[in-house]
Amino acid sequence: MGCYDTLLSPQVASFAFGAHGMLIGGRWQSAQSSKTIDVFDPATGRKFTEVPAGDAADVDLAVRAARRAFADGPWATMPAAERGRLIWQLADRIEELVDEFAQLESLDNGKPVQQAKAVDVPEAVARFRYMAGWAGKINGETVGLSQRGEYHAYTLRRPIGVVGQIIPWNFPLVMAAYKLAPALAAGCTIILKPAEQTPMTALRLGHLMAEVGFPDGVLNIVTGYGETAGAALAAHGDVDKIAFTGSTEVGKAIARAATQNLKQVSLELGGKSPVIVFPDADLDRAIPGAAAAIFFNQGQTCTAGSRLFAHRTVYEKLVEGIHSEIGKMVMGPGLEAGTTLGPLISAEHLDRVNGYIEIGRREGATIVSGTLPRPRGGYFVNPTIIVGAAPDMRVSREEIFGPVLCVTAFDDDELDAIAMKANATEFGLAASLWTRDLSTAHRMAARIDAGTVWINTHNHFDPALAFGGMKQSGWGRESGFHAVELYSSVKAVLAPLN
Ligand code: ADP
Repeated sequence: MGCYDTLLSPQVASFAFGAHGMLIGGRWQSAQSSKTIDVFDPATGRKFTEVPAGDAADVDLAVRAARRAFADGPWATMPAAERGRLIWQLADRIEELVDEFAQLESLDNGKPVQQAKAVDVPEAVARFRYMAGWAGKINGETVGLSQRGEYHAYTLRRPIGVVGQIIPWNFPLVMAAYKLAPALAAGCTIILKPAEQTPMTALRLGHLMAEVGFPDGVLNIVTGYGETAGAALAAHGDVDKIAFTGSTEVGKAIARAATQNLKQVSLELGGKSPVIVFPDADLDRAIPGAAAAIFFNQGQTCTAGSRLFAHRTVYEKLVEGIHSEIGKMVMGPGLEAGTTLGPLISAEHLDRVNGYIEIGRREGATIVSGTLPRPRGGYFVNPTIIVGAAPDMRVSREEIFGPVLCVTAFDDDELDAIAMKANATEFGLAASLWTRDLSTAHRMAARIDAGTVWINTHNHFDPALAFGGMKQSGWGRESGFHAVELYSSVKAVLAPLN
């Protein structure tokens, strides 16, 4: 237990510090190997609990349970509207427990509890509610055939089957909701593998799903490491689809593993998203916007605006403005009221982010660090601006996944030239444009190679709006009906009428 435990409600403390099992076929159980994983409080670096270290044997049991629940039993025959009702009820329960979920997320991930309460929990709730609405509206279509003759032809849209879902540690509850909600709406059964660093809210969700009445085996949760449990899930021969959010490197490994049985794959991967500020931008909006784009969630966001391109005429003002935004932040333990910037997720990740800052310095860029008081213990890093990073430097090209912003000035007025700079990355997840000129905004939006382009905002998500990456940022689109498509397959039926 850490020293901020007193800030937890008794319910959260008793859940978090209690014993945890994995959820397989409706039973909470230890790993077959009996091994466990220590879970740490990022604000103190202290272990606060442990969870089972599931591996291939546990994944296999979970897949069997999911297959049984998919093939027969109440879930297989449940009317779609009833599935929708269960998902809606789950959303209601999460919403009722907003404080509990926010505290648990803050303890486990380190993020400010106020942000978890204002952003993470409501986003998860909204996602379940939105997808609950799709459950009873997943239809095929009648098709007029293109060739001569009389036919009745139509398509059926069916759940894809047993799905594996592997999620990261940066938004544990939100990522679980992104994955679970459309899969449940489509009628799939699931094996969820939370990140080893942050299993708490997924486990709590598993309890709630049983409580609201989801049948056993619909959701199975295998806690475990990526290289063991995650890899086994990606490779399993009886999993019909694997959905993954995480690093590009691991995404490639998952795609390779999936070829063994040609399971469907969707991937939401890394990014190095540009934030482009034009000379006519409203700086009162662009400055806090650009600061939040990179520093929100300690920079541990796949869509973080980590490359700022500022037109020469606004460059100085922007850099100064972002620096003064840093000065307004309060770095501290996520559970403490008033904290706006928490610790990073782990000691290992802290080393990685500090390593990148050092690489930037060695490559010849100028490092402008914030000077926020640094709490003792914990995995804290000061928000950092890297000025004058050339496009070929590692800090400009690689995903740092921390509060580190690379800033460059541009002189071009040609949109194509600006777009070429912004697009000079292997990633294509997101971008934001800051301008008052409608024509510039929409002409530029068309030129950016990214799954999402924001105009005068950044990191604004909605369950109805497609989300996913181009280039090495991923395959597939989550949100909207696109997400339901990821978890369903289309069958064509054709009958000659004469
Ligand atoms: P990060 O580097 O940000 O921790 P990862 O991509 O390594 O992100 O992790 C995201 C998720 O992928 C976690 O749940 C992790 O356990 C899992 N994972 C890591 N390696 C593998 C792997 N080889 N196969 C399957 N899952 C993995």
